[in-house]
Amino acid sequence: MGLGKLIGWLRGTREPAAIPDALWAETLATLPFIDALDDDEKSRLRALCQDFLAQKEFTSAGGLELSDTMCVSIAAQGCLPILNLGLESYRDWVGIVVYPDEFVIPRSVEDEFGVVHEYDDIASGEAWAGGPLLVSWRDAQMAGDGYNVVIHEFAHKLDMINGDADGIPPLPASITRQDWETTLLAAYDDFCDRVDSAEARGDSSEAFYETTGIDDYGAESPGEFFAVMSETFFEAPDVLRQAYPALYAQMRLFYRQDPATRPATADYGASDDAPEN
Ligand SMILES: [Zn+2]
Repeated sequence: MGLGKLIGWLRGTREPAAIPDALWAETLATLPFIDALDDDEKSRLRALCQDFLAQKEFTSAGGLELSDTMCVSIAAQGCLPILNLGLESYRDWVGIVVYPDEFVIPRSVEDEFGVVHEYDDIASGEAWAGGPLLVSWRDAQMAGDGYNVVIHEFAHKLDMINGDADGIPPLPASITRQDWETTLLAAYDDFCDRVDSAEARGDSSEAFYETTGIDDYGAESPGEFFAVMSETFFEAPDVLRQAYPALYAQMRLFYRQDPATRPATADYGASDDAPEN
């Protein structure tokens, strides 16, 4: 994989640089679920982004020319989950590699007979344990529609602080591990049943999304479910709160945010009876 050169107006500065007003306003305008934060949250998020940009290293790949707009947008989306958790949640890694579009990840898997199978995976994002976070800029720009590759990958990063991306990140004192596991796995099992039923009916992934407002990729594993539900939690909180209220309550404690109390920013398939405000 050919990594591009480090660029960006904040590169190399270890002193946080101020995000210009116009750039911040432009960023919020493209991210309605962040624009829905109150003024105090927005100013704390902006300060957090500035620290984040000073500590992380953005790299481009695939011929992409990185811009300030890209870096600030990715920072804003990636810092939203840790608005009340702090930047130390992302302390174990530094690099963010931005691709123009989906990218190929060469994989190799050894089977039970010791035979190594090599294949290519097409991905819109990837979070390496202890290593960089990879993201497709094209996909990152689809934010706001209930699909958010940036929040997804950063949720994996939080999950991996204590090992595998298994859906069980380090929990605050307000949540017992048993409660988290029971709640997450009950919702996951139900979600897998819903995905299975949809598949049995011959429904496409798009049809499933239109009906539920949730990406069926969450049925891959409990770790993917946590990452997908984190996207839903921040972008379409009413969808998650209605589908899995107990999980919503646990995620509210985990992220120490209550996005459902913010002004609704989008109309999702599953939120027909959601308030209009
Ligand atoms: Zn994932």
